[in-house]
Amino acid sequence: MALKNQYLADLLEKVKQRNQGEPEFIQAVTEVFMSLEPVAEKRPDLIEAGVFERIVEPERQIIFRVPWVDDNGVTQVNRGFRIEFNSAIGPYKGGLRLHPSVYLGIIKFLGFEQIFKNSLTTLPMGGGKGGSDFNPKGKSDGEVMRFCQSFMTELCKHIGPDTDVPAGDIGTGAREIGYMFGQYKRIRNEFTGVLTGKGLTFGGSLARTEATGYGVCYFTDELLKANGKSFKDQTVVISGSGNVAIYATQKATELGAKVVALSDSNGYIYDENGIDLALVKQLKEVERKRIKEYVNVHPEAKYTEGCSGIWTIPCDIALPCATQNEIDENSAKALAENGCYAVIEGANMPSTPEAIEVYFANNMLYGPAKAANAGGVAVSGLEMSQNSERLSWTFEDVDNRLHNIMKEIFKSCDEAAKEYGMEGNYMAGANIAGFLKVAEAMKAQGCV
Ligand code: NDP
Repeated sequence: MALKNQYLADLLEKVKQRNQGEPEFIQAVTEVFMSLEPVAEKRPDLIEAGVFERIVEPERQIIFRVPWVDDNGVTQVNRGFRIEFNSAIGPYKGGLRLHPSVYLGIIKFLGFEQIFKNSLTTLPMGGGKGGSDFNPKGKSDGEVMRFCQSFMTELCKHIGPDTDVPAGDIGTGAREIGYMFGQYKRIRNEFTGVLTGKGLTFGGSLARTEATGYGVCYFTDELLKANGKSFKDQTVVISGSGNVAIYATQKATELGAKVVALSDSNGYIYDENGIDLALVKQLKEVERKRIKEYVNVHPEAKYTEGCSGIWTIPCDIALPCATQNEIDENSAKALAENGCYAVIEGANMPSTPEAIEVYFANNMLYGPAKAANAGGVAVSGLEMSQNSERLSWTFEDVDNRLHNIMKEIFKSCDEAAKEYGMEGNYMAGANIAGFLKVAEAMKAQGCV
């Protein structure tokens, strides 16, 4: 689909020229621009203020060497990134991804998405993202610690509790955040809320671990209710078996659904009786094993090698919670043909543009990532508030706030979609609502 608005079409061409070799970033900008066409028509003042030009260019891009010594005494070198994308409404905020696929284009797409996601949370947070092509899988704790310390030795020059507050993402869990926090404190000699997702004994927030997965389900619940449906007795397929997938499985089950499949980057399990989540937690969170081990305990379940087949399992609702572009056109068609009527995204940008077209063509309900998975960063924002107050709120308190934030996010997506004549298109609603708040702030602050 091509842009009809000439101004945005020309600008997208410039973005493509300037960011060659970064397809994920171009994909994210294209999707947002498609949604913003009616805004560009209605708000020439934002064009005059150069908001569109400025919002697609990161305020700062930091790329650095991360040398560390492995267990054999051999020097290894990774590449570190921090993209400080937009600080119009608050300090840069966004996670750190540690995965071999990480390069500039991935971090820029994630940082760009984060601007709108953070805006939707209603909390004062700008957009940023970082990470490295380091692969924590198969590394010893000592190796992970030495990598994290080296990474933070450079990163600490650029971040701070009022400047830029990183968090976890793929490959960065409590262990990595702990090592990074320790190194920041050692170098800067300050105990501040400079990272979120910290351990509970040193400033972490209760319910942060659960936040993204729970938030996806709270958002889904609102979306279903608004369309006369609910989680009750629905069959759900969830991809991934990491942080987001595990807690989405937990909450969807609590809300009355049956989750029948989970995956990792090697393959997927299908358990018709409903996933045994205690076992998955033991395998993935404690033993760091592969999902295929599940069938050793539950031989009645089935394991299949390869990831994309998971979308051929018949279900009512699909929650992709693994990684970007995991549902392509064919997978989306398989979902539609097998009766799936709702896709709500836990991972960032898990659906290709072609897959999204299939959802719309089949009148499926579609909840975009930047709205549906904003619960994680929302509770990170609440962790920052608790750190500033030097207080810890109860699990129930944080969970209630998360629930209310997710309801508000759904409401703003729904209302923005209606206001711009696209009722039921929550992707457009999320992009428009997220954009407008940041755009007003950028305009008010002048050309900076
Ligand atoms: P984890 O590292 O905890 O888990 C990621 C899961 O996805 C693992 O099961 C992993 O399998 C699987 N996976 C990773 N890459 C691929 C791939 N290329 N193909 C298939 N499966 C893959 O990460 P999270 O659960 O934290 O993050 C999942 C998604 O949610 C990401 O898109 C992330 O950006 C997004 N997200 C996370 C938030 C959070 O709070 N954690 C907040 C908002 C968004 P394996 O173990 O084999 O690698």
